[in-house]
Amino acid sequence: MAAPSAQAQHGHAAHVHGQARLELGWDVGPAGGQLSLALEAPLESLLGFEHAPRTAAQRQAAQALLGRLRTAQGLWTLPAEADCRLAQAQVQAPVLEAAPAPGAATPDADGHAELQAQWRYDCARPAALTGLQLHLQGQFAPLRRLEVQAAVPGGQFRRVLGRQDRGELRWGR
Ligand SMILES: [Zn+2]
Repeated sequence: MAAPSAQAQHGHAAHVHGQARLELGWDVGPAGGQLSLALEAPLESLLGFEHAPRTAAQRQAAQALLGRLRTAQGLWTLPAEADCRLAQAQVQAPVLEAAPAPGAATPDADGHAELQAQWRYDCARPAALTGLQLHLQGQFAPLRRLEVQAAVPGGQFRRVLGRQDRGELRWGR
């Protein structure tokens, strides 16, 4: 198979252990606001391994990771005044699933595997969502560098967060 071109890689995070990428979008419409977050990471960056779990401890770690991502518990804090509800959460990590569906992505021949997750929040008082606090960057031992790409009313910005960085993102007045 030919190596993917630079073009094909556009918008797709490189597979670098210890790193992850978070895309954040914020749209305000007549009925409220929708906040979307999408995470793309080598499994190694979140879990410390990227093969199917082999031991009870690894199975437990994998289930804990999936559960935590599905609930988004502790990953970020949204302003309470914005009244946001988690409307949708999806996590895809085929290598962690006990019986992958036929045709599901398998790890690369060299054993690398990724996790992708998406969340959507519906916010009843969007005017109050002028930023958020990210905690994701400090939650996973192997994760050293989180790249954040945000597209919000008023523009786009990019931030790179290390484990110790305060993840305060602001875009409102
Ligand atoms: Zn890898």
